Amino acid sequence: MNPTQQLLRKLPGIDKLLDCQALTELGESVPHDVLTKAARETVEQLRTEILESAEDFDATRLGLEQVAAEVAQLVQNRMRPNLRPVINATGTLLHTNLGRAPLAETALQAITETARMYSNLELDLESGKRGLRHDLVAELLCQLTGAEAAIAVNNNAGAVYLALAALAQGREGIVSRGELVEIGGAFRIPDVMAASGVRLVEVGTTNKTHPRDYLNAITEETGLFLKVHTSNFRVVGFTSQVSGAELVEIARPHGIAVMEDLGSGMLFDLSEYGLPREPTVAEAVAAGIDVVTFSGDKLLGGPQAGIIVGRRELIEKIRSHPMARALRMDKLTLASLEATLRLYLDRERALREIPVLRMLATPAEELEQRCIKLARRATEEIDSRAQIEVVAAPSTVGGGALPTTELPGFAMAVTPREQSVDALARRLRHGQPAVVARVQDDRLLFNVRTLASDQENDLLTALQTALDRNHEQD
Ligand SMILES: *Cc1c(COP(=O)(O)O)cnc(C)c1O
Repeated sequence: MNPTQQLLRKLPGIDKLLDCQALTELGESVPHDVLTKAARETVEQLRTEILESAEDFDATRLGLEQVAAEVAQLVQNRMRPNLRPVINATGTLLHTNLGRAPLAETALQAITETARMYSNLELDLESGKRGLRHDLVAELLCQLTGAEAAIAVNNNAGAVYLALAALAQGREGIVSRGELVEIGGAFRIPDVMAASGVRLVEVGTTNKTHPRDYLNAITEETGLFLKVHTSNFRVVGFTSQVSGAELVEIARPHGIAVMEDLGSGMLFDLSEYGLPREPTVAEAVAAGIDVVTFSGDKLLGGPQAGIIVGRRELIEKIRSHPMARALRMDKLTLASLEATLRLYLDRERALREIPVLRMLATPAEELEQRCIKLARRATEEIDSRAQIEVVAAPSTVGGGALPTTELPGFAMAVTPREQSVDALARRLRHGQPAVVARVQDDRLLFNVRTLASDQENDLLTALQTALDRNHEQD
């Protein structure tokens, strides 16, 4: 018998495999079909590996217990949810890949309570008649931005599309060439305008656009001026863009609406925490912009949403556009958006309780102290399997916002001694909970700015498991 045949003969039968103790125990919580399927697939996989290369095959893997362990691992991976919590140790506050903003505690409670019971989503409890879901957050949004009216939809891309379609479908929209942005690969201003049926009229140049450029482009067909926040890039050197207030001045006499897509949309000035001085939503409204749109899950720190605030008659048009129904928010998101907005009524409370704002506002000295403590604990628990240091590591805002802004911060740098940095990073991503950290100069950096303090124990456990020599290959 050749080596391949010898190995193949050692493969356990499915029935025998399912009868062994580890799998009968697992069978108490896992449907029989799932277990049988996993057993077949595992044996089939082993057979394939043997046939591919018998010389490289480790025969100890064919013991009954070893095969059963592989089956159990496969079943456990399958039973895990696909969408899982991740510890974000990248230092990037708003990672679109990691779900952007974590929510405040009161926003989580609002979701649970609204989900558990029926609610007055579209019932006016005062009159007993039908109400509007939009009204649940409209008043709060007006209060926080000074706008006359407001509506929230599924996300900011939807908000821009809907506002354009409702306000200028079949007409021309004038945009500076310096503001024809692409965000996150799929949101491109020219494409969104085309999709909403607004004819794009480009004015100015990439670096400079002047008030007269807008003025000269006005025709009978002009439906609106669109100003777009250049969230994810900077043009430096000789540049000029026309301010919102100037646009309003040009547009007013012609009865043209001015719309601004603010992108992140801050409700109050965050420049004292190291962010650039940017106009807040209230300032854009005060400058006379007719319609302002922004995201719920960027620097606002709430759930995915697109918020539109502005003049009453325009918001009314937006609300009654047929696509408003297609883009409407669901009750759970509305509940958490309302709870998040309520926190903003008290600025100090917002800074304390909204995770994104809290992380943003944490001073570098405090981060350093936390990082030193974390590194000390890690050193005690991890002994010789890795070298651990505290290093300066800046944070970015992320989520396509403020690309050139760096916040000072600190990270625990881990250099594994018995495996590559990439292998360690991979094991951490596969762990439970998954941990995402940044690889830099052959070290793994765990930035503490985006770590909640109650995640530190989980992080250390995950790190220990991932550094463990006997860790199962996933
Ligand atoms: C992020 C962003 C968008 C898209 O917002 P989503 O909420 O992700 O849909 C649109 N415009 C600008 C300027 C942005 O920064």
